[in-house]
Amino acid sequence: MKADDPWKPFRDIAAAPLEFARSWKVEHGGKVVGHLIPDVPEEILHAAGALPFAIEGAGVSASHAQAYLPAYTCNHAMGALEMALRGDLDMLDGMVIPYVCDTTRNLVHLWQRLFPNMPSELLRLPKRIEFGSVRDYACAEFARLAELVGAITGRTPSTNDLAASITLYNSSRASLRRAYKKHRENPSIWTAENLRVLLTSASRAPREEHLAWMEGLPWDDGAPSTSEAVPVYVRGKVWDPPDVLAMFDRLGLVVVSDEVATGFRWIQQDAPADREPIDALVDRYLATIPYAGYHAEPRALVAGFVERVKASGARGVIFLNPKFCEAAGFDMPDFSKALENAQIPTLILETSTRGVSSGQIQVRLEAFREMISGELP
Ligand code: SF4
Repeated sequence: MKADDPWKPFRDIAAAPLEFARSWKVEHGGKVVGHLIPDVPEEILHAAGALPFAIEGAGVSASHAQAYLPAYTCNHAMGALEMALRGDLDMLDGMVIPYVCDTTRNLVHLWQRLFPNMPSELLRLPKRIEFGSVRDYACAEFARLAELVGAITGRTPSTNDLAASITLYNSSRASLRRAYKKHRENPSIWTAENLRVLLTSASRAPREEHLAWMEGLPWDDGAPSTSEAVPVYVRGKVWDPPDVLAMFDRLGLVVVSDEVATGFRWIQQDAPADREPIDALVDRYLATIPYAGYHAEPRALVAGFVERVKASGARGVIFLNPKFCEAAGFDMPDFSKALENAQIPTLILETSTRGVSSGQIQVRLEAFREMISGELP
């Protein structure tokens, strides 16, 4: 690696995120507030003076946590609890767990009982996103989050604090979207693995610094685009197994778009800068592609999904479904039927550190790539 490698700060954080958070805390004397994925508004944590730190349990092998959770719990929850039980999260000053399913709703109770010295709270995200009073409810809940985090950091964010954080995060998202565009145009340099490193580090680093580092990336590389790469669309919770995007690179698959909670879905929507800040964050939440298990008119959900896939130009769709995730499983029959009707090839992968190996996933991806690349003009 070159000494002036512009990718280095991102890779360093992605390789050792926990160590990074610990050193940041020692260096800055600040508070680190963890949050599970998806849809916790990081801007609120940032505006209160905390370092927002995303917790991903998906790639973690669980042993201690199995004593507290049933074996049929998804690895996202199991892995997060495992990390906390083995002391990996001892630098956290607080934890926010979003309500997206029964698993996370119950996890927060366990968390509060097991880690009484770490303030933790359930963010009661509205799941009926088309319900009449959803906006008022979400505004009240986001304002409650601001108070809760303010109690941890000692600074309840003002309107100006929130507006400044929104401006920063909008700029960061714009820069990350630009990186996605480069990946579509030139996946040989802007690889899928590089994208993962940018996104993973963004959800753990101080966003001001991350944005400044991004300016040093090779935006004007001038390299030709790779014509053999096969465009795919991905839907899932997180990039699991963590090396799945490196597999895409090796197999010549390019992610033209995705609905992954730590992928394009996470950065697609900005919060409007001309609105009152909490309203703007709620606007962003409501405009984001609904996560698995959110309730909206089922036919519109499916039709919207197929339209987005068609518009992306993808040759096939890959689902990265966490094993034991009822919400993802619930969506699958309608989504796969609609894709079949639209004659769009689909690969459904069930992911978990328990019982599913990276090798199995690679073999299935290879076969899928072979199948859909035969359909290239
Ligand atoms: S939505 Fe699925 S993957 Fe996410 S916590 Fe719930 S069960 Fe686990």
